Amino acid sequence: MIEIKSEREIALLKEAGRIVALCHEEMKKQVRPGVSTQELNDICEQIILAHGATPSFKGYGGFPSAVCASVNDVVIHGIPSKKTILRAGDIIAIDIGACYKGYHGDSAWSYAVGQISEKDQLLLKVTHDSLFKGLEQVKEGAHLGDVSAAIGNYATSFGFGVVEDFTGHGVGQKLHEDPPIFNFGEAGTGPILKEGMVLAIEPMINAGTKRVRVLKDGWTTVTKDNSKSAHYEHTIVVRKNGYEILTTL
Ligand code: MG
Ligand code: MG
Repeated sequence: MIEIKSEREIALLKEAGRIVALCHEEMKKQVRPGVSTQELNDICEQIILAHGATPSFKGYGGFPSAVCASVNDVVIHGIPSKKTILRAGDIIAIDIGACYKGYHGDSAWSYAVGQISEKDQLLLKVTHDSLFKGLEQVKEGAHLGDVSAAIGNYATSFGFGVVEDFTGHGVGQKLHEDPPIFNFGEAGTGPILKEGMVLAIEPMINAGTKRVRVLKDGWTTVTKDNSKSAHYEHTIVVRKNGYEILTTL
């Protein structure tokens, strides 16, 4: 069942989302050659705690850190580490969740480390734009499959691999609620969107194969061909004629 949130709940989800957005604002400045993913994690955790929230991911299913930091061929769920030092030419996806007064915000963004190749610039741009192609479909009365198809068709048209093993999701008092939101599919299928549904839409797009595997740590998910991967995510609320982004300032 997909919950409809009240305006009171949406206000709390918006504050959680604002805290996540503050972290991403800081990451824009902090992502650079020489910084470790542990340092980035710790900066985000401090911002989240300083705003009266808690990191949604820490302890979730046993995840050890406040944020996910996924470098190059890591698709999602990269575990921050002092040993993972960013170098010029890397790309990194940072996925951040904050829980404020019991409500979650969830947003991922991909960043270039120093100068990156044109090929990697295209991967970031197409993944970013695929998120917004999907969001353009969101409004009361649309099918969820309209969103999925718009994302998948756009990314596939560039020859990129659309990850199928992980999805977006509803967000509320739980980090992951119904429905799962696939990044591929058919328009005109799936649940019908209603005002007040809160959704995290999050394309994960690979430069090569769509196939992924999970490393022995049980979290780190990498592309099977070691091609690079990008990830963008916003938590939004469905409105009558469109959507409102909650994970923004
Ligand atoms: Mg996320
Ligand atoms: Mg998510």
